[in-house]
Amino acid sequence: MNQPFLIADVPSAARPAPAHLCPACASAVHSVLFAAGDRNFSTTARSFEIVECVDCRLIRLHPQPDPSELAALYPEGYWDAPEVTITDRLEQWYRRLVLSDHARFVERALIECEEPGLVLDVGCGAGLFLQKLRRRGALARPDAAGHPAQRAIAGVDFSLDAAVAAARNRVPAVCATLTHAPFAPASCAVITMFNVLEHLYDPARYLDAAHCLLARNGRLIVQVPNAACWQFLLMGERWSGLDVPRHLFHFRLSQLEALLGDCGFEILRTKHFSLRDNPAGLAASLAPALDPTVRRLRHVGESPRMRFFKDALYVALVAACVPPTLLEAACRAGSTVMLEARKKT
Ligand SMILES: [Zn+2]
Repeated sequence: MNQPFLIADVPSAARPAPAHLCPACASAVHSVLFAAGDRNFSTTARSFEIVECVDCRLIRLHPQPDPSELAALYPEGYWDAPEVTITDRLEQWYRRLVLSDHARFVERALIECEEPGLVLDVGCGAGLFLQKLRRRGALARPDAAGHPAQRAIAGVDFSLDAAVAAARNRVPAVCATLTHAPFAPASCAVITMFNVLEHLYDPARYLDAAHCLLARNGRLIVQVPNAACWQFLLMGERWSGLDVPRHLFHFRLSQLEALLGDCGFEILRTKHFSLRDNPAGLAASLAPALDPTVRRLRHVGESPRMRFFKDALYVALVAACVPPTLLEAACRAGSTVMLEARKKT
């Protein structure tokens, strides 16, 4: 049984527009790109549509699942980070290793913003990212008297499972929505949202909340799958970035930039390649059944030898996906985009 989600903040009344209207421009007309179901985890047998607004071209899931259904659409153990066998430990080691890329991007923002406040990771999952920052020494910051000190960190997630998993990893976390998170206005130096906005009914509300929580020169780091990537163009409904029915929106980079601008942010940096996400995303598009997380959460029965064989095949596939995803990113069409933004002055 899944732990409950905190959904008090996302009732249907909080949605920006009635379900049949485009949440971005309120157009009632959309074209259906294709039908798709939960290809990865089979949490539901329902078929959804991926539709594109004919006016603003925002791509979205249609119909959106009701908030009361959300918990059931995330498989049990989605946020857990089990370290039972050698391959589990290797998987966790690999996850932490490839987070270096995210950490470097955020470290630069932390240095350049020169704000003393909190680092807040929204959608913190099991807290691996903040753990990574701490282990890299990125949080060291002298206090007012010049003594060595650590910058405060916190995770927020609307899944209780995730907040509990983060606490197990010694990352302070609260189960809350960002709009009701227990932090003071202007208290954050950096707020990160890795793969969060596409899960929300009203992404602008989270961006507004981040705007309020950030210090004057604080930085917002946002990462989403990029619907303007080559992978989506070539693979259509097989693109893993769709993650039906958990992703409600599929932003193109230009649309994300416009959304951030509307919410009072200016873009400082854009990164088109993610070591953690782009090669693994292409591998998941090509062979979803090989993905170790999918296999674990679907409780695929495997002998130790078969498990090792599939893991080895998966690693080889991810490695083979590095060159094409690097090329895609070099052409500004990476399958994820990461942006650094600050408040407009
Ligand atoms: Zn629209």
